[in-house]
Amino acid sequence: MELLHCTALKKVYGKGEAAVCALDGIDLTVPRGEFLAVVGASGSGKSTLLHLLAGVDKPTAGQVCIDGVDVGTLNPTQAALFRRRKVGLVYQFFNLIPTLSVEKNIALPLLLDKRTPDPAFLEELLRTLGLTEKRRALPGQLSGGQQQRVAIARALCARPALLLADEPTGNLDRKNSAEILDLLTLCHRNWGQTILLVTHDDTLAAQADRVITLSDGRIVSDRPRG
Ligand code: ADP
Ligand code: MG
Repeated sequence: MELLHCTALKKVYGKGEAAVCALDGIDLTVPRGEFLAVVGASGSGKSTLLHLLAGVDKPTAGQVCIDGVDVGTLNPTQAALFRRRKVGLVYQFFNLIPTLSVEKNIALPLLLDKRTPDPAFLEELLRTLGLTEKRRALPGQLSGGQQQRVAIARALCARPALLLADEPTGNLDRKNSAEILDLLTLCHRNWGQTILLVTHDDTLAAQADRVITLSDGRIVSDRPRG
């Protein structure tokens, strides 16, 4: 069963002489439960693709369907709700609230949505991501790798259909990067989490079920793990 489907996706930034075509006709289907890596040189359109899939930005042309919803037909309020409930986002920078504990940071998106985390799942998340002992710590008391684990837990707390991660290890050293990848793999295995991971690191991408390569806004290769 497919979770994500996009057709003829195109994104042009700016107008006239200054126009930049960041995505030039992307067709992509992601089955539920897949761990997909997206690689490609800087400027090839990886972040743009993630933003269009998350509904953070609108395509110039083409269509995105996630979990049966045509994202392009949503009004801004519906789009914000959709993002909050269906999609989890992780970035290179962790963007944690420095004055809130680990636990509160993780629960925050749900609390803002006037919901509370499922207590059992919160415990499972903390345990899986090795954060149980750190639950009352502040972000400033954690290492970079630990902060990124908090950001991943925050993204997963609402049990999103799709986890989108944009270079989540871009700010970490090799050891911590490998650890984050292992944890993403664990979330994929334990909960069947569908993951779309953008990375420029081929070693990390090789852990995914499938790797697509972008170049100048097009998919130039699409292959299962070899
Ligand atoms: P990647 O994440 O692979 O490095 P991006 O999706 O960030 O690539 O960028 C793809 C292209 O679109 C690049 O040429 C970039 O300069 C351009 N671009 C990205 N965001 C914007 C924007 N907000 N305004 C204008 N051009 C942009
Ligand atoms: Mg990028």
